[in-house]
Amino acid sequence: MGQTILYLVLPCYNEEEVLPATAEALKKKYHTLIREKRISAESKIMFVNDGSHDNTWRIITELFHENPVFCGINLSRNRGHQNAVLAGLLTAREKADVVISIDADLQQDIDAIDLMLEKYENGCDVVYGVRNTRNTDGWIKKNTALGFYKLMQFMGCEVITNHADYRLLTKRVIESLAQYGEVNLFLRGLIPTIGYPSDIVYFEVRERQAGKSKYTMQKMLSFAVDGITSFSIKPLQLITLLGFLMLLVSIVMILTTVYDYYTGHTVPGWASSYCSTWLIGSIQLLSLGIIGEYIGKIYLETKHRPRYHIEAFLWKDGKEEKEGLS
Ligand code: UDP
Ligand code: MG
Repeated sequence: MGQTILYLVLPCYNEEEVLPATAEALKKKYHTLIREKRISAESKIMFVNDGSHDNTWRIITELFHENPVFCGINLSRNRGHQNAVLAGLLTAREKADVVISIDADLQQDIDAIDLMLEKYENGCDVVYGVRNTRNTDGWIKKNTALGFYKLMQFMGCEVITNHADYRLLTKRVIESLAQYGEVNLFLRGLIPTIGYPSDIVYFEVRERQAGKSKYTMQKMLSFAVDGITSFSIKPLQLITLLGFLMLLVSIVMILTTVYDYYTGHTVPGWASSYCSTWLIGSIQLLSLGIIGEYIGKIYLETKHRPRYHIEAFLWKDGKEEKEGLS
């Protein structure tokens, strides 16, 4: 498999401080991989400038002129990490057999690329990079992140714990990804829904070498909300459940009220208003839940997600063909 064309995609937002070191480290890595014939000499390192306000694009341009292994695309404005990664993936797929996305600060260990390629050579289409530890994160970031994965899984989204956007995708997976037209992009949730053979490699995370994190608390929160609401209609379904529970409670409350009424423990007018409060409350919740069920369906329909992807064909002429690889 010496001829695999590998593209690395690095989203960059105001990364002038780390880019030179990142470029140097990746150049070395590529030299080794090309020398060992693990990847083709046509492989490239692609920087996606996500509307940076600093010298990021100028540095990318210089790198491109200095060494043909570097290339870049410049987004018209800041569109956020997920969109920057997507832009890189969709652009790279035209030339690449395999694309690996990784953060520009190289907090993620680039030696895991070897393991990812190995998994790819063994037939995987998706290789998720999963971090071993969270020692480099502060207490708050660590626990909010872990809580986030738990909540996502509870909400029915197939995220992989401790996997961020460091992953290998083959061309055919990116072709499938290109069929998703959704605007609220949450790649970590989307990729597992696409399918194809996949595996995990573990890697260590290190401190950011320079510059600051571009994920502010506000960006992280809106990312989490986006993730849940883009994948799950469970919050809406929970309203229906709550409505049912309230209905059960209200039946009990009504029975006790009627009992109190006949045993004379009430003042005039209390029993009827008490019963109706419970009943109306639970009926309202239940009705909201039912409306929610329909809205959930409409919501899912509006995404126009592809309904299936074919991984392989067995045709009558006896040949097996893999989509995108034929
Ligand atoms: N990033 C981006 N657009 C943004 C925010 C971040 O392209 O609006 C990039 C950033 O340059 C980096 C990656 O996304 O390559 C991850 O960001 P960062 O390292 O700041 O996040 P953290 O590692 O702190 O979670
Ligand atoms: Mg980082």
